[in-house]
Amino acid sequence: MVKLSPMNLYQLLPKTNCKECGEQTCMAFAFKLVSRERELVECRPLMEDSKYAQQKKELEELLKPLEDATETGMIIYPERCVGCGNCVVACPVNVSEDPHGCAIGLGPKNDRVILRIVDGKVQAYNVSTCRRFGKNKILCNGCIVTCPTRAIEFAEG
Ligand code: SF4
Ligand code: SF4
Ligand code: SF4
Repeated sequence: MVKLSPMNLYQLLPKTNCKECGEQTCMAFAFKLVSRERELVECRPLMEDSKYAQQKKELEELLKPLEDATETGMIIYPERCVGCGNCVVACPVNVSEDPHGCAIGLGPKNDRVILRIVDGKVQAYNVSTCRRFGKNKILCNGCIVTCPTRAIEFAEG
């Protein structure tokens, strides 16, 4: 599975740096696609030149999960989640907010947690408290590295 990253998007763009989109380079455009500041349709060559048809299709596929990404850039792929709960007990926010549940390896016992399993699939709540978000953000990756199926990803702008 191809990761949603500026480099992977860049590889599929025309790479001509024509500047029609208003960016200096296709790479700059790729970064802004990930951070949702720009949209694919703003690359006119990609939209209009049939020689890029296959790349356009692949880019559209790759960008689809961004439509559901949270404000923190978190993307959950429910079809990949096996409901193991690893992320639920690994998330430092879950642990600190829920001393009687997640902190001792149990399911969430209150509503302040970010990750919880609902009907066998992970769901995200209170995403603005994620440690990758806000002015004191850090590159937390607790939920990513403990997931055996890569069901959680963050769009990296
Ligand atoms: S319009 Fe497309 S091809 Fe031209 S610089 Fe922007 S991203 Fe690259
Ligand atoms: S990135 Fe860290 S704080 Fe955010 S949901 Fe994942 S484990 Fe929790
Ligand atoms: S997202 Fe990954 S770690 Fe979390 S419950 Fe689903 S499969 Fe397990």
